[in-house]
Amino acid sequence: MSESLLNFINGTWRESASGETFTNEDPSRRGSELNRAAASTEADIEAAVTAAATAFMEWSSTTIGERQTFALRFLDALESASEELSVLVSKENGKTIAESRGEVASALLEGQHHVRQMAVFSGETAPRVDSDVTAWEQFHPLGVVGVISPWNYPMNVMCRKTLPALLTGNTVVFKPASFTPWSGVFMADLFAKAGLPKGVFNCVTGRGSAIGNCLIQDPRVRAISFTGSTEVGRQILAMASTDFTRTQLELGGKNAMIVLADADLDAAVDATIKAGFGCAGQWCTSTSRVLLVPEIAEAYTEKLLARCEASVVGDPLDASTTMGPVAGPSQFNGIAAAIAKAESEGAWLRYGGVSNNSDGYYILPTVFDGVTRAMGLFHEEVFGPVLALSTVADLDEAMTWANDSDYGLSSAIFTRDMDAALHYVREIEAGMAHVNIHSGFKTPELPFGGWKESGFGPPENGRVGLEFFVERKAVYIKGQGQ
Ligand code: NAD
Repeated sequence: MSESLLNFINGTWRESASGETFTNEDPSRRGSELNRAAASTEADIEAAVTAAATAFMEWSSTTIGERQTFALRFLDALESASEELSVLVSKENGKTIAESRGEVASALLEGQHHVRQMAVFSGETAPRVDSDVTAWEQFHPLGVVGVISPWNYPMNVMCRKTLPALLTGNTVVFKPASFTPWSGVFMADLFAKAGLPKGVFNCVTGRGSAIGNCLIQDPRVRAISFTGSTEVGRQILAMASTDFTRTQLELGGKNAMIVLADADLDAAVDATIKAGFGCAGQWCTSTSRVLLVPEIAEAYTEKLLARCEASVVGDPLDASTTMGPVAGPSQFNGIAAAIAKAESEGAWLRYGGVSNNSDGYYILPTVFDGVTRAMGLFHEEVFGPVLALSTVADLDEAMTWANDSDYGLSSAIFTRDMDAALHYVREIEAGMAHVNIHSGFKTPELPFGGWKESGFGPPENGRVGLEFFVERKAVYIKGQGQ
């Protein structure tokens, strides 16, 4: 692999068809250039889809055991490269080195789970259809799958999609986010090192609006697994529907956390810091709204503000840093605008705002208090380290406010009251419900996806994360006698 980032198509490293490149910037150093990546065009997508379509026949005929072997070789290569990869993710995304190591560990955990569950992944068998009819459900791979990933978890999200797609016998064309092409190309190199046959996995870098559309609209692409904003997800769904291309869309969130009067406040504050400011608030399952009952509102807020004051915002590779920069200029400008809007709407800024350190795209952990349901900050995804605190009368009002959202990805409650916890679990309109655990917690055995405008199509992870990538066939066999 050369210094400049190339596309990986049909087992070879190539410049984009146009020869054009774009700058990959380190967000902790404004105006820097980590490297340049291929600015691909429709011709590159065409070549990648052709390679994947050609490779499909042979790859789909491999046994499950052979695919598991390739996947395990890939995971071994990933584990060996984990420190190099973690540094790279911190450099191009801005998350702290501890957070990048956590991302790689999560990808390994999920990948190993997918390999294991493949061993027992088969369809239903009908008990006894008729006296001499045997029947079962058989799975078939779809064909070429397009994987489009975001920059916030640049390697974990692509693994969560790509490994299930490959294990079930599909071939893949992957488009990394334009903020994080290096992680994407690095992953392609690991697939090459794992000895995957040519064309089975292809990686094409470039702007979503320039190449995403032709990937989605190519009739040979049978499914799109996308993670990103609700706005782009909606466009993808419209494009994919023309050819009935299957979609798995993991989208935005505005996740609420409820804190009741009997909660362990230190644990609640810990969870808020972790899920509100981890990765500079740029996780889809971040906590961004906190609903507090009056009995504990001020005590919780004082503890939270003390933790904000102790935070260290700076160089993501410095071990003492607790929060790095946000991912790039458009992220920075969007978050700064959301902060200004919240102030103009009358929310009380109790901590944070834009940092004085202008070396990189730094925003401080930011806490707004007195946020009402009429304010934009209550409803709009900021996707940054900005918390909206609101005081509500009781659990009933907390539930009404929590569910007053177009989104429904994750959520949490802190309480020792089992009845209150079970009421919340039953009533919350979200794909993930956490009791006394932060909203970003997950395990690969269970589905990862959202309700309402946070997701469309089957979620990732769990058994359903494999099922998305297969066609089903019901088989009926009747003997003809001796
Ligand atoms: P984004 O929607 O701007 O981009 C996501 C990907 O889509 C990128 O690779 C981008 O290049 C590509 N893209 C952009 N326009 C496209 C188009 N017209 N056609 C095809 N592809 C296109 O999102 P982002 O800024 O990278 O990520 C942040 C968003 O992702 C947030 O809204 C966040 O909540 C969401 N997210 C959701 C999850 C989840 O699992 N639900 C996880 C991570 C991030």
